[in-house]
Amino acid sequence: MRCEVVAVGTELLLGQIVDTNSSWIGEQLALAGIDSHFQTKVGDNLGRMTAALEQALDRSDAVIVCGGLGPTPDDITRDAIAAVMGVELHRDDAVAERIRSMFYRRDRQMPANNLQQADVPAGARVMDVQPGTAPGLICPVRRASGSVSPAGGDATAAAGEKVIYAVPGVPWEMQKMVSECVLPDLQARAGERSVIRSRTLRTWGYSESGLAELLEPEMSRLDATGEATIAFLASGMEGLKVRITAKAADDETAQGVLSGVESRAREVIGEAVFGADDDTMESVVLALMRSRGLTLGLAESVTGGLIAARLTEVPGASDVLKGAVVPYDRLLKTGVLGAPDVNAVSEEMALAMAAGACRVLGADVGLATTGAAGPESHEAAEPGTVWIGLHLDDGGEAVRVRFNMARTMVRQLSTITALNLLRTRLLSRDG
Ligand code: ATP
Ligand code: MG
Repeated sequence: MRCEVVAVGTELLLGQIVDTNSSWIGEQLALAGIDSHFQTKVGDNLGRMTAALEQALDRSDAVIVCGGLGPTPDDITRDAIAAVMGVELHRDDAVAERIRSMFYRRDRQMPANNLQQADVPAGARVMDVQPGTAPGLICPVRRASGSVSPAGGDATAAAGEKVIYAVPGVPWEMQKMVSECVLPDLQARAGERSVIRSRTLRTWGYSESGLAELLEPEMSRLDATGEATIAFLASGMEGLKVRITAKAADDETAQGVLSGVESRAREVIGEAVFGADDDTMESVVLALMRSRGLTLGLAESVTGGLIAARLTEVPGASDVLKGAVVPYDRLLKTGVLGAPDVNAVSEEMALAMAAGACRVLGADVGLATTGAAGPESHEAAEPGTVWIGLHLDDGGEAVRVRFNMARTMVRQLSTITALNLLRTRLLSRDG
């Protein structure tokens, strides 16, 4: 089974947006074991879109076209597909009703244009996953010649029948449709009986080569058995992801393999694994605090509220987070938090701020940041020097970090470092 991607949109050609959809889809196809040899970008032009689809169908069994399913006059993917299929568009009443009710639920007037999104090429099927107003389409195309699924193809892929999947350009809508609808359909057409499952470990603190060294024995073992693969994905300031992917006959077997590899990986990486899959540093810290019945107060000077912002992103943060003080001025550090009149970028200040946050905010645990974000020095501290203070169980500790980077990075790294410090202390406190 070969599948290629056609990304639609003049803005992609003009460089106004980067075609991240194609790279995401490419990755998913690779994970699913489906060959993908070409990716095309084409502008919003009926003739050129039709030509791009024809060409893709000549050399592949399936085409995923993304973008151009919206309600505006330049959204003509539906028309191009109808032209390739040699059929007319017709209004699908069920889809029209779905779009109407979506607007109704959001208490908004539906522009008449939106009904165009209910126009479907005759013979196409509407995907049952529809996160936005644009319906995804599964469009069978009968081709006179060209490559046909190799032997082993299943009955759904009748000889000469190919398929175009149309998904919207909006990344999260596209991703949901591709994962939940397109990939399973492709695998069914390929007669694929196996499932592919993956699990991602979130790590913080190790470099890629450091992780690779730790995981080397497990990776060689997997190389030999072929039961799973391990890949590293850098995620910027959020650390490194270790993704384990297993292919097996069924879900249960795949999950069993993943769990085995996961526990061996956790054993060697240790505390640097802060979570899995959708966990974030902040969601993990909140969960740890919650399960211990602890509340948190923040005193954020150099991070200026970034820690609070990250924590309050997580639903339900209010049962842990009491609040935050942003004592940017020295007078607030002393006056509001009761810190002594010492250097603002010092261990003593960080400790006093953390203790002050507990007291002032009525929290069990205090976390504080103070430093020189740069580009200038601050109170004789070199730019990028940051003290993080933690007050816990009537005791305090402070760590000094130095980030030789631009201001934004210093502030963001301080934020995640502070959260990670709190996380590791909560873990070691359990003994
Ligand atoms: P809509 O219903 O929102 O109009 P659509 O299917 O018509 O969706 P487009 O109009 O092509 O899709 O794109 C909508 C938005 O999705 C774009 O403004 C862009 O931000 C994003 N987008 C579109 N194509 C891509 C792509 N290939 N890669 C990344 N983002 C994309
Ligand atoms: Mg659009």
